[in-house]
Amino acid sequence: ASSRRHLIVGNWKMNGLSAGSLELAKAVAEGARDVGPAARLVICPPFTQLAAVAKALEGSKVQLGAQDCHQSPSGAHTGDISADMLVDLDVGFVILGHSERRQHHHETDGLVQAKVKAAEKAGLTPIVCVGETAQQRDEGHTLETLGEQISKSLPKDFSGVVAYEPIWAIGSGRSASVKEIDETISHLHDVIGRHLDVDDKSVSILYGGSVTARDAASILSIPAVGGVLVGGASLSAESFLGIARAA
Ligand code: PEP
Repeated sequence: ASSRRHLIVGNWKMNGLSAGSLELAKAVAEGARDVGPAARLVICPPFTQLAAVAKALEGSKVQLGAQDCHQSPSGAHTGDISADMLVDLDVGFVILGHSERRQHHHETDGLVQAKVKAAEKAGLTPIVCVGETAQQRDEGHTLETLGEQISKSLPKDFSGVVAYEPIWAIGSGRSASVKEIDETISHLHDVIGRHLDVDDKSVSILYGGSVTARDAASILSIPAVGGVLVGGASLSAESFLGIARAA
């Protein structure tokens, strides 16, 4: 626990039908009443549940996020969702460049940057994910990989949030250590200071990768950490709120 404000973001990924999503959102909204002001909560359901979840969150302090958006404002893009469409549903945040999209949808740093610009123009706060593979870490290329992702995925006047998510830690049950998180996120702040035209302290950097209620307090006590991005543990209100209470 500290006096800083932490962003606690839940990424539901491709999980949730109507009934379960509503139940989960309501439980988070209700439980959030007992979470102190040190935690700012955001949940990111799949597109199909955004409208219903927005209603369930009305009057609560939990904010709504999406998991992706298209880089164009509108047009011939079958199956895609624009940033304005998200704003229209009271969405305030959007996760961009998640490693699952970089891997499975071949999203490049350049595409991620185009999406970031579109999101910011529409008034959304982008949460831009970067992270190294196990192989890149083993070969000693972590900082170089992340530096490249940061400098190519973020516009010079970036005003959103970054999430450091080592790919080997996502869904693996093996979170990065406090030392690894501290060193890497401190380095990312340096890279932001060097490559962007913004004060590096103005960019909050979250950690993501197998965060649970058990290790949240130690991660959130790292001064360089601005919050956490939570996948698996955000599908249980109990676990997600447990993480928020550690802020
Ligand atoms: C994620 O994919 O953003 C994530 C952090 O997942 P998990 O918490 O399940 O590792």
